[in-house]
Amino acid sequence: MEALHDVGIIGGGPAGLNAALMLGRARKTVVVVDEDRPRNRVTHESHGFLTRDGITPSEFRRIAREQVTAYPSVRFVADRAVTITGTDGDFQITTAQGLAFRVKKLLFATGMKDAPLDIEGLIDVYGSSAFVCPYCDGWELRDQPLVLIANGAKAHHMAKILPGWSRQYTICTNGPDEWTDEQRNELRQHKVPFFDSPILRIDSQDGKVQQVVLEDGSEIACTGIFFAPTLVPGSDLPEAIGCQITETGAVLVDSFGKTNVPGVYSAGDSASAAYQLIAAAAAGALTAVTINSELLEAAWNNEI
Ligand SMILES: Cc1cc2nc3c(=O)[nH]c(=O)nc-3n(C[C@H](O)[C@H](O)[C@H](O)COP(=O)(O)OP(=O)(O)OC[C@H]3O[C@@H](n4cnc5c(N)ncnc54)[C@H](O)[C@@H]3O)c2cc1C
Repeated sequence: MEALHDVGIIGGGPAGLNAALMLGRARKTVVVVDEDRPRNRVTHESHGFLTRDGITPSEFRRIAREQVTAYPSVRFVADRAVTITGTDGDFQITTAQGLAFRVKKLLFATGMKDAPLDIEGLIDVYGSSAFVCPYCDGWELRDQPLVLIANGAKAHHMAKILPGWSRQYTICTNGPDEWTDEQRNELRQHKVPFFDSPILRIDSQDGKVQQVVLEDGSEIACTGIFFAPTLVPGSDLPEAIGCQITETGAVLVDSFGKTNVPGVYSAGDSASAAYQLIAAAAAGALTAVTINSELLEAAWNNEI
């Protein structure tokens, strides 16, 4: 077992790496453990992060890792954290490759995972012409014929948002719709076409969607898809160590990134539904400031 590090960060996406950057600059000893399975890895381009618009997710991370590890007190470990034990001031992280680290404070920046929808052909277009967020990928599909695969309140919400990018869109609920009468009437008033027949398959060529085929025989031609994925936590370690989890699977944190477990923090997609690279990075940076302040306060009081 190694010397006690100040902070252990599980997850090396924008949240974890921006936290590491702040902590490295604050001269804290940091170990970042990351298995490199970011949520956006299927996409070819990331958008909306100032100075990095259009970058590939892997290049974004490469630059971030390079900048973060330039600080000598930050260590990056390409591995999966499998267990966490201990308490505030002395946590132990063990990894799949059998490494072990001791850390005073623990930050979960473990993200979320999109559970794939069970629709034939979706995997062939996901990240190329089927996406989850119009803020991330709507510009590239502007004014194009789109299909929105969603149901219930999510579909109703997206129906209001999508016209910002394209007015030509059709909703496929992929089974009986779950709208209230009011929501259904609203969609009719706005002349939004919708189908509730289950989806048979998605036809595409070279990652470009061509049409969505329904079980009732309808064929909806389109060049882009937005769909509502089912999200699951990127890691079950926060829950295993006693962190409270919200109904949506996020780690419950206060506005400083603190969980209910002393010495344990969370930032980024794992703790917020903002679901943007820049929001995750900002949350990581701000949570790092909280962690650093608490370490300095404890040192001032001779507690740690
Ligand atoms: C298809 C798609 C496209 C997107 N496009 C954009 C876009 O263009 N612009 C934008 O702003 N946002 C985009 N997003 C959202 C963006 O990907 C997330 O908001 C962002 O990645 C969240 O950052 P994070 O650091 O919280 O988590 P992530 O980037 O998901 O990183 C979490 C990391 O933690 C690691 N990890 C988890 N558990 C463990 C463990 N036990 N041990 C070690 N490592 C672990 C994971 O492997 C991963 O590397 C997109 C999302 C999707 C699904």
